[in-house]
Amino acid sequence: MKQVRLIYSSAVTRDMSLQDLRSILDRARSNNSELNICGMLCYENRYFLQVLEGERASVTELFIEIADDPRHDDIELIAFDYIDKPLFDNWKMGYAGGSPIFHKLLDKLQMEAFEPGRLTPRQALAFLHHLSNHQSEI
Ligand code: FAD
Repeated sequence: MKQVRLIYSSAVTRDMSLQDLRSILDRARSNNSELNICGMLCYENRYFLQVLEGERASVTELFIEIADDPRHDDIELIAFDYIDKPLFDNWKMGYAGGSPIFHKLLDKLQMEAFEPGRLTPRQALAFLHHLSNHQSEI
């Protein structure tokens, strides 16, 4: 079966409380483990950056569903690649946002504020992968 990695960014349509983020992650964690999809979600400065990895049909279907979610819009596809094995399989859906390490990575990218739509595919993957080892508790 063909495995893919999809990375996208989006902008929230309203302020996200901790409870809003928890509810997205709870839903993601339960749905994704059934679909065998793993990944990582980042939220900061009213933007999301998410990576999804798994079987091509499952990732495509989930992405279409996520893109239709009214909690965000301005969805921009950053990368869609075939992969031999997932990079994020330790975390069914990890989360990072606003931590000191998050801001240190932004500094390295010479980004004053988190604007994931400006990241190249390579930068976005490196950012997400680095943060998967430094997740935020929410
Ligand atoms: P429900 O959770 O019952 O949702 C039904 C519909 O209502 C959905 O279409 C949803 O768009 C909408 N909805 C749900 N809650 C709210 C709310 N509080 N405000 C407004 N509309 C709402 N889901 C995953 O399964 N895996 C993921 O990795 C994942 N990542 C996400 C990342 C982001 C940035 C966002 C915003 C959402 C993400 N979701 C994810 C949620 C996804 O968009 C759907 O809400 C979810 O898959 C639908 O689950 P459900 O079929 O159980 O329906």
